[in-house]
Amino acid sequence: MSDCLFCKICDGQIPAAVTFRDDEMVAFKDINPKAPFHQLVIPTRHVSSLATADEKDAALLGKLMLVGARLARESGQAEGGFRVVMNAGADAGQTVLHVHLHVLAGRVLGWPPG
Ligand code: 5GP
Ligand code: ZN
Repeated sequence: MSDCLFCKICDGQIPAAVTFRDDEMVAFKDINPKAPFHQLVIPTRHVSSLATADEKDAALLGKLMLVGARLARESGQAEGGFRVVMNAGADAGQTVLHVHLHVLAGRVLGWPPG
């Protein structure tokens, strides 16, 4: 989508600290990290939100989780523990309407989240 921030990161129009890329996914460091380790994993295909995703997005959503877990493992964050979060909709705090998985680690993460 031409006016989508994360589509622009995918195609390199907007710079980001990219940590992983393949045909279907891009991962990069969050610009405003909420933990010592905070990366976002996004599909290269524009999907607005988990709230409107459907069956055709199932494989992509599964792969987001696996890429997130791999990033945590390969960064040495899996042993202590990490959290994946996907905000869906305004009340949950979704500010960018392109599906993204937060991967957070590097400190004790409180529960329940705010
Ligand atoms: P949301 O609030 O939609 O769940 O998460 C959006 C995330 O994107 C936020 O954590 C925010 O810090 C991050 N973000 C917003 N704009 C940019 C940007 O231009 N570059 C990067 N790397 N992260 C961004
Ligand atoms: Zn997009």
